[in-house]
Amino acid sequence: MSRKLNRRELIAAAAGGAALPLAAAPQNAPANAPLPVSEFEPKSMLHTAETRVPRARYPVIDFHTHITGAGGLGGPGKLRWSATPEECLAVMDRKNLRAMVDVTGGYGDNLREAIAKLQTAHAGRFFVFTEPAWSRTAEPGYPKLQADLIEDAHRAGARGLKVLKTLGLFLRENVTTGPLVKVDDKRFDPMWEAAGANRMPITIHTSDPEAFFLPIDRFNERWEELHAHPDWSFHGKDFPSNRELQEARRNVMRRHPRTQFVCLHTADAENLPYVSECLDAHPNMYVDIAARIGELGRQPRAARKFLDRYQDRVVFGTDASPNSPNVPQQLFGDALYEIYFRFLETEDEYFPYAPAAKPPQGRWNIYGVGLPDGVLRKIYQDNAVRLLGLA
Ligand SMILES: [Zn+2]
Repeated sequence: MSRKLNRRELIAAAAGGAALPLAAAPQNAPANAPLPVSEFEPKSMLHTAETRVPRARYPVIDFHTHITGAGGLGGPGKLRWSATPEECLAVMDRKNLRAMVDVTGGYGDNLREAIAKLQTAHAGRFFVFTEPAWSRTAEPGYPKLQADLIEDAHRAGARGLKVLKTLGLFLRENVTTGPLVKVDDKRFDPMWEAAGANRMPITIHTSDPEAFFLPIDRFNERWEELHAHPDWSFHGKDFPSNRELQEARRNVMRRHPRTQFVCLHTADAENLPYVSECLDAHPNMYVDIAARIGELGRQPRAARKFLDRYQDRVVFGTDASPNSPNVPQQLFGDALYEIYFRFLETEDEYFPYAPAAKPPQGRWNIYGVGLPDGVLRKIYQDNAVRLLGLA
């Protein structure tokens, strides 16, 4: 007697296929054998232009990189280096990168170390941003203490402030326990103001792809990414919705009109009409394109219109993280930059958005937006120059 078939096997059988167990399909398996999605690596048969862009057409400032890391909710810890400045400079010189902004420089001694080894030792090639002291947010007097830390960071040479998605999704009333702290919590008001008063732009990552807020099931377009990183899911529990997080950030931008906010990952790259509404409403809002060319590039006509319309409010960023093979869409190196340049400069069609055998963020490819020179220059460098107050 035959054993009971599972659902997948039933579907295969109904389709005329043999009901084989869903094990790894060897390369010489019969054509009708089930194939685990993780092993599916289709090669495009399109005969399309393949333009290699080894160097950016104009000098570039990468506004969003992680050369250093300085701890999180548990306290600052020791500054971690993901690459040496020399390793970065070799790639930068090959790719026509004028500068990299290391956004995660921490604060206090960590920040001073990052500034000394990057910004001071290689003037004009690196800029370092500070970060809030998350582990101290439950202390009485935190609002003033945090504003003072921004002043201290400014004196030490920090050029901006980075706020990770920690705010809104991880930080809790007692740092790691209690209710989640909202993005527009009033205790951060002195921090946003101090940054604005010192002309330090704020790069702020709020929320995540919409699929991260949905069940990890067969309808989830990022199933493979979430399956590989289940801790990236914000489905259920006490997490706010994407829209609640976005709206809280809008409250912050509204309350601090003198402060410049660069909303990272194109703010909400899957919903360009909404991001456009936000940019129209908040003149102090900017966006970067880091780790979102996979989203922008699969809606190339909308993306091109968006980049053209907001050409003065978009900065180039990659989220580049040296030596991080588990996030190929951010893996710092020549291959990563060549994909970004190809997306922005060419009209090539249907190419991978990440240097990886399989698309890491979702099963699709992207299309170049072929930006005109004037727009390209602004996004590559001019907007960043203005935000950083450079000559
Ligand atoms: Zn980042």
